Amino acid sequence: MKKLRLCAALLVLLGPTVQAAQPDDSVLLIHGGAGVVRSDMTPADEAAVRAALELALRKGHEQLAVGKPALDAVTAAITVLEDDPHFNAGKGAVFTHDGKNELDSSLMDGATRKAGAVAGVHTVKNPILLARAVMEKSEHVMMVGQGAEIFAKEQGVTLVDPSYFRTEKRWQQLQKALKEEASGQAHTDLETAKHFGTVGAVALDRQGHLAAGTSTGGMTNKRYGRVGDSPIIGAGTYADAGCAVSGTGWGEFYIRAAAAHDICARMAYLKETPQQAGETVINQIIPKLGGDGGAIVLGADGAIGTPFNTEGMYRGWIGADGVPHVALYSDETLPSHPPAAAAKP
Ligand code: ASP
Repeated sequence: MKKLRLCAALLVLLGPTVQAAQPDDSVLLIHGGAGVVRSDMTPADEAAVRAALELALRKGHEQLAVGKPALDAVTAAITVLEDDPHFNAGKGAVFTHDGKNELDSSLMDGATRKAGAVAGVHTVKNPILLARAVMEKSEHVMMVGQGAEIFAKEQGVTLVDPSYFRTEKRWQQLQKALKEEASGQAHTDLETAKHFGTVGAVALDRQGHLAAGTSTGGMTNKRYGRVGDSPIIGAGTYADAGCAVSGTGWGEFYIRAAAAHDICARMAYLKETPQQAGETVINQIIPKLGGDGGAIVLGADGAIGTPFNTEGMYRGWIGADGVPHVALYSDETLPSHPPAAAAKP
């Protein structure tokens, strides 16, 4: 009895500082690009890609687990993938027609609908960090080319020599694409290899706020100055209070479909789930226009969608328990989140 009274007194004393346990619904969902061709992958490639996706999930989860905003989880995860040469973003980006790496990226905060984007940069090690600087340190939403690089320098964003981004594999992909173009062939494998390995992340933090981000080298053999959907808010990236999307695929079609915004609009106005809204846009509207690809979609209730219409899409998620789930191909099932969502009709 005495003990009980002591406990009660202690609770009263600590009352204002003891927080009722909040349910932690935080989740991070990532992609490493649609257009995966199984026959091109060695077991070593597969293992490396799975390990990189898991690392990106863990790094992002570290942010969510300590109560940091969704934006921090998105930038942490994307930075890992930009630094890994297996993805078409940062190091390992594809080459333009004239043999350069031109990088595009964007980021959006769902709670405030603030956004930042950069396009056509050649010396910025992590374009997602520059997109964030544009959002937080400038009055603008999008900066391109040399101006974006001057801004990066002013902001102390890490710059590298353009040769940093080069990998032999991407160089050989360009040589193949140039040869096929010169011989007038329109190969299906070339069509697929043109868009491969873009990275993106969407997150829901403990405060219930969403964020989305995307980073890419674009498409192999793209013409100088070509900008795809990835840095375009509403096309490749979008987030608001109810939805966050990052796309990967043939960018021209994502721009024409306003894909990321359309998915969120469907969720808001038609009350579609992330998977339903994503499938309509990715598996119906975009293919009808002639494009292909995939997207990751996250709702404010933590429900996820991962629609794609290619042979695979690198993808994965991590919830409050900190256990990463990863899948590469279309015949692999990614568990649903939250688990109860699986039971919904
Ligand atoms: N969407 C990107 C672009 O068109 C490419 C990709 O997702 O792989 O630039």
